[in-house]
Amino acid sequence: MGKLVLGIAVGCAVMSCVIAGVMVGRRIRSRRRWWNVVTTVEEFKETTETSVERLRQVVDAMVVEMHAGLASEGGSKLKMLLTFVEKLPDGSENGIYYALHVGGTNFRILRIQLGGQRSILAHDVDRKPIPQILMTSTSEEFFDFIALSLKEFIERKGDNLQLSHDRGKDLGFTFSFPVKQTSVSSGTLIKWTKGFAIEDMVEKDVVECLQKALSRRGLDMNVAALVNDSVGTLAVGHFLDNDTVAAVVIGTGTNACYIERADAVIKCQGLLTTSGGMVINMEWGNFWSSHLPRTSYDIDLDAESQNPNDQGFEKMISGMYLGDIVRRVIHRLSLESDVFGPLSSKLSTRFVLSTPLMAAIHEDDSSDLSQVAKILEETLDIHDVPLKVRKIMVKVCDVVTRRAARLVAAGIVGILKKISRDGTGGISSGRNKGYKSGKMRRTVVAVEGGLYTSYTIFREYLNEAVAEILGEEIAPYVILKTMEDGSGIGAAMLAAANSARNVDTVQVL
Ligand code: ADP
Ligand code: MG
Repeated sequence: MGKLVLGIAVGCAVMSCVIAGVMVGRRIRSRRRWWNVVTTVEEFKETTETSVERLRQVVDAMVVEMHAGLASEGGSKLKMLLTFVEKLPDGSENGIYYALHVGGTNFRILRIQLGGQRSILAHDVDRKPIPQILMTSTSEEFFDFIALSLKEFIERKGDNLQLSHDRGKDLGFTFSFPVKQTSVSSGTLIKWTKGFAIEDMVEKDVVECLQKALSRRGLDMNVAALVNDSVGTLAVGHFLDNDTVAAVVIGTGTNACYIERADAVIKCQGLLTTSGGMVINMEWGNFWSSHLPRTSYDIDLDAESQNPNDQGFEKMISGMYLGDIVRRVIHRLSLESDVFGPLSSKLSTRFVLSTPLMAAIHEDDSSDLSQVAKILEETLDIHDVPLKVRKIMVKVCDVVTRRAARLVAAGIVGILKKISRDGTGGISSGRNKGYKSGKMRRTVVAVEGGLYTSYTIFREYLNEAVAEILGEEIAPYVILKTMEDGSGIGAAMLAAANSARNVDTVQVL
């Protein structure tokens, strides 16, 4: 009997030891898996490091590339395109002006009434989807549709302004496709993007096509400016504040433009402008430098994209891509460990996590991160993850957004340095040094785009980094101003500033 009891006791003790051993083993393995996750995230954070020293290297690289792009055609990944815009609105404009914005699946028609003294007395906008069929039709059909829509807009909105009163009005045209500008109001389409394929338009003057369609519809309107959205943003910025020298768009894509001295545009010797300056469209989405903190996730994203080796800067900073970088990191974490539960097939789907959803994860301020849990469930098919894993999600979003915002900041300071508005005098030999005898000129940069306007943490990181790079003495002189709908209103304002009634003042000798 005693032996039996002893046997049972020993058996129980052995079992307990085995169970304890299994549990400890599991815990160790689980700790190890968790440690893998933490290590991978830390490594990711380190590779995306954007210390102020590194940002200053990016600033200098931007300046060098700007010089190279201005020196010769194809001299840099930065195209540094001439816009022929030398006359920006200054707030004194008066009258009614129109704008058309063709940028993707939707297009917009706008009318503004300017009253001088920087005032916008009225502002009407209409949005319309472009029928799919027209995106691959003929240029005549496409522009007929646009002209007809404009005519309907004028008739509908013009209750107190009869159509006849709109005769001879100037129109700004924002056309967000690659265009080789030949004057402020003409340019040929280089190629279509975003699903458009109207073959007979390639290499044709887009303004001429529009102008003809307007005439066919009996609209006596003059297309006075052909611009891209960053130039439109600069125009509104300058209309509202004459100290505005550059504009940046950070939405689905990204771009920047700024006012350059005409004599700095070496690749176009003999460029004469009455103001001595010209707006340069940098097409900065294509900027590249070895100083950019690139990770394996960026390399994979680029390789799998429709345009590998293209738009490298854009792929690190714009709204189209940020969510997808986060998705790639989470995918890697899920492959390395089971802390996200069974591997979700959603994690292999490109662009399944949009940037607005990523921002919602990042900005979830609930104590249990319930919004994060909801997005994980609904978008990524990842269920019941503990709080510490949700925190990892937030952390990854933070790392991706912080890098993006700080790189944009470096790009902005790069532009300011090129035009000697960063307080250092720059490596350029600018005549009008921004920082003279201890006195720094006030400098405004207009910023537009959903990422900047709707993603608060992104905006805060960006503003903070600009101040950090410039230093506390210079930073108060540099102001980033948010522009709502710069691309639309700006085009109408440029039409005002470049109205047909003014003589053309730009010549290429
Ligand atoms: P577009 O660049 O197409 O002209 P917008 O300037 O409105 O349009 O920018 C839209 C982009 O901004 C979206 O593709 C998205 O990436 C980003 N975005 C919009 N809203 C948010 C948000 N709340 N949080 C983060 N990103 C956003
Ligand atoms: Mg836009």
